[in-house]
Order: sequence, then structure tokens, then C-alpha cells
Amino acid sequence: MHDISLSELLSARGFVGENEIRALESLYRAKLTRPGKVRIAVNKITAVDEVLGAAFVRHCRKTDCTPSCSDARHPVRVSAQQCESCGGSDNRRAVEEMVAAMETAGWTKLLVAGGSPGTRDDLQKLCEGRLNLRFVTEDTAPNKKTIGGMLGWSDIAVIWTSTEISHKATDALRGAKVLRVPRRGVAALANAVRNRCMRNCNSGASR
Ligand SMILES: [Zn+2]
Repeated sequence: MHDISLSELLSARGFVGENEIRALESLYRAKLTRPGKVRIAVNKITAVDEVLGAAFVRHCRKTDCTPSCSDARHPVRVSAQQCESCGGSDNRRAVEEMVAAMETAGWTKLLVAGGSPGTRDDLQKLCEGRLNLRFVTEDTAPNKKTIGGMLGWSDIAVIWTSTEISHKATDALRGAKVLRVPRRGVAALANAVRNRCMRNCNSGASR
């Protein structure tokens, strides 16, 4: 069984010092590790990221990335590299994992509704040449014909923090392949898609 250093795993995600202790406590509560353990099995990383993602919101100093008051998660100040909203290395890692999971599921077409122009651009660049992406934006005609057509084309569709697109547009996105990602940030979207792909593969269902 492959394992890695627990403190390296946490510091790579921006949990250091006091926040490393907080993160460890949440992992103890989730029974993913216990006090005294210094290494963790690689196959637990997905579960670790889920537990940490549910308990903490990692943000950098930029105003744009400051968590909203409605976010009940504990805020953790991290460098821009690890920021959930704008993080460079985090986004890259998450997209790599999403691309690999989609490949395993046999999916190549990702439809994304919402997100900001900046985050859409980041996602597009990271997926370049490997996945086919289409976007429902504020400029897309919000009717069933247009959006239903795009949905039909896709292997998986994501409604991504739908604040910038109309309800009419998101209303046209329904069905088993539609996923809602309420969090900003490329990594949040990529992790959600990866998890859906893995569930799909595990259950053996084709769609
Ligand atoms: Zn940021």
C-alpha cells in the first residue's frame, strides 16, 4: 500500500501551523487517521479532500477570493497557489485528476453553465486539447432548444455557481448527468466532476 506523509499532504493544501492541527482534528473525527499517525494511505486522499473541503474554505488575501458570509465553513488563509478560488497549483492538480477520471469513464465532453469569465478561461486553458468544453454563459440564449441541445451533446454537465446566468438557463439543465457545484474555483468544479466520474465507474452504470 502506498502512503505519504500526512503533514506534507496538508501543507501542500495550505494547512500549516494552527490550521494543520485543525485539519488533523477534522480527519480524526472522520476516522481517516488517528493521533500519532504520521503517514496516510494514498487511496484515502480523495476522502481527506472531501472532509477538508466540507469543513474549511481556503482563500488567499484577494478581496475576490474572500469567502461569502453564507459560507459556514471555517476560513483558512492560504497562498494564492492553494486558494480555492484562484489557486494555480491546486487547480492544475484537480484538473489533472478530473481529466484522468473522465478518461476512465469514457467521457470527453463537458458542459459548464455559469462561472465567471476568468474562471471559465482558466478551466479552458487547463483542459486544452484533452477535453471538449462548451459553456452556457450570460450570452447563451436561455431556451430549452439551445441549452437542451448542448446538454444532449455533453457527457456530463455542471451548473457552476449560477449567479451569472439566468434561472431560465439553469432550468433547462435537468437530468442524471447534471451536477451542481455551488463553490467557486476551478478546483471545486474539477473535484466534483472527478467524484461523479468515480461514482459512475464504481457503480458500473454507463450513465
Ligand atoms: Zn485567491
